[in-house]
Amino acid sequence: MKAMVLREPAPAAHRPLALADLPLPEPERGQVRLRVRACGVCHTDLHLAEGEIETPRLPVVPGHQVVGVVDALGAGVSRFQRGDRVGVPWLYWTDGTCDYCRKDQENLCPNALFTGQHVDGGFAEFMVSFADWSYPIPEGIADEQAAPLLCAGLIGYRSLRLSEIRPGECLGLYGFGASAHIAIQVARHWGCPVYVFTRSEEHRRHALELGAAWVGDARDEPPVLLDSAVTFAPAGWLVPEALRVLRPGGTLAINAITMSPIPGMPYDLLYRERTVRSVANLTRRDAEEFLPLAADIPVHTDVEVFPLEQANEVLQRLKRSEVRGAAVLKIQDQGRARG
Ligand SMILES: [Zn+2]
Ligand SMILES: [Zn+2]
Repeated sequence: MKAMVLREPAPAAHRPLALADLPLPEPERGQVRLRVRACGVCHTDLHLAEGEIETPRLPVVPGHQVVGVVDALGAGVSRFQRGDRVGVPWLYWTDGTCDYCRKDQENLCPNALFTGQHVDGGFAEFMVSFADWSYPIPEGIADEQAAPLLCAGLIGYRSLRLSEIRPGECLGLYGFGASAHIAIQVARHWGCPVYVFTRSEEHRRHALELGAAWVGDARDEPPVLLDSAVTFAPAGWLVPEALRVLRPGGTLAINAITMSPIPGMPYDLLYRERTVRSVANLTRRDAEEFLPLAADIPVHTDVEVFPLEQANEVLQRLKRSEVRGAAVLKIQDQGRARG
């Protein structure tokens, strides 16, 4: 099968991914094999390819927003049949036995495996996944539309949950890329007025098209105090700016794997029971809740579609912020797989 493989991390400009012909993977107990139809590309893939996030496995096939059709079943799988369309997100597997897993926090499991980091992901014609960590993709969502739901969408949804936003309350979103443009649709569905902070004129237009009540710069004054806010940009200076317009008792959720240092700030910005928390990974519950909700709303994802072979170009475009919405690799059906 064809795959785009990371052998050695390098700057995106040096084309770290190489087209390779790999053996067809065989599903083990509890696993399914998917014929991959589409796979999203996100900043985590860029960080992995450039070595900012380490992978213990090289070579590795990146890609953790995978939409595919079940093509073979490992022993003991009853959750899916051949022909089912399923999605695989970043959380590939958890041990189920550690304190975090037992406390409903499997996103923090120290033994978790992540798709495209510890195991081969979806920049390939086929991959294997664990059935219990794979999810039915509701009908009516096209493959390339579904792919970004599996990372940008899921993480955006989890961020909304952790921001403690309730129906009808005022929500602030800082940054307006792949996650935020999905999160705003969920928040609007919940009847929340959404205030979007971004410098980009194009992103402001996009936010207004999707029903934002107000758009502005992070240093601007929105017309109301926010009940909850989510930052999607990895810029530490946003934290005191967001706290400045958050009501007492409100929550700021930080959706970023890495962030520039948060500057010193007066305690008064935090006082009166404001909460600041980060968002890490996702749980199966997030996926089970979000995918049907996304189909109900229905969430529309803005995607730019590229062929598998252009994965390096996509990483370069992501790095230059030249993708509108989310980038998706469409894996062409190559007919019979080569073994
Ligand atoms: Zn665990
Ligand atoms: Zn991702």
